[in-house]
Amino acid sequence: YRTDEVEATRTMVDRVEQRFDLKPTRLIGDTAYGTSEMLGWMVDEKDIEPHVPVWDKAQRKDGTLGRSDFTWDADAAEYRCPRGRPLRSSGKPTADNTLIYRSNFHDCGSCELKSKCCPNTTHRKIARQVNESARDVARQLAKTKRYEQSRRHRKKVEMLFAHLKRILKLDRLRLRGLKGARDEFLLAATAQNLRRMAAWLMPRSPEAAMATAL
Ligand code: SF4
Repeated sequence: YRTDEVEATRTMVDRVEQRFDLKPTRLIGDTAYGTSEMLGWMVDEKDIEPHVPVWDKAQRKDGTLGRSDFTWDADAAEYRCPRGRPLRSSGKPTADNTLIYRSNFHDCGSCELKSKCCPNTTHRKIARQVNESARDVARQLAKTKRYEQSRRHRKKVEMLFAHLKRILKLDRLRLRGLKGARDEFLLAATAQNLRRMAAWLMPRSPEAAMATAL
C-alpha cells in the first residue's frame, strides 16, 4: 500500500541518518508523499526539501475561489483575500489541530466577488492545518527550476522501475522472505544494468558502426 511505502521512506531516512550520519537534502516523490504529516516531517523535523506535489483537498470544483487565491501573510499571521481584506483566527485550534481564519462580514457584504467567494455564507472561512507552513514551503518549491529538474530525475528512475516490471517481468517476487526479495531484486537490477551497459557501449546504428570503423 502507498501509505506503507511512505512510512518505509521515513524509516529508511532515519536509519541511514543514524547509522551513517547521512541525510538527503531533497526528497522527490508523487502526491502520496505530499500529505500534511509527511511534509511537516520533511520540513520541520528533518530539514529536507520536499520536491513533491502538495496533497490538497481544499481546491474547489464548483468554480468558486479556492485557498490558493488567498495569500498567507506570515508576519501578520493572517490570510489576505483577493480584495486585500484580512482573514483572522481566534488562535484557538479545533480538535484536529486546525485554525479557522474568518473574513469580516462587513467587508464581504459589499464585495463584488462575494458570489464567487462565499455565495452561501455571510463571510469566508479558511482552515489552516498545523503543518500548513511546511505545505507552503512545498508549494513555493514547486514553482522553481530545481523542482522541474527533480521531476525529470524522477521520471528517469520511474522508467527504470517500469522497465524492470514490464521487460524483466519483476511485477511480482517469486522468492519468499526478505532475503529472497533482496536476491531477486539484485539479480534483476544486475541484468538491467548489463543491458543498459551493452546499449551504451554498442554503436546505435550500422551507420554509426561504419563511422566508428573509419
Ligand atoms: S467576499 Fe469577502 S473574503 Fe471574499 S474576496 Fe470579497 S471581501 Fe474578500
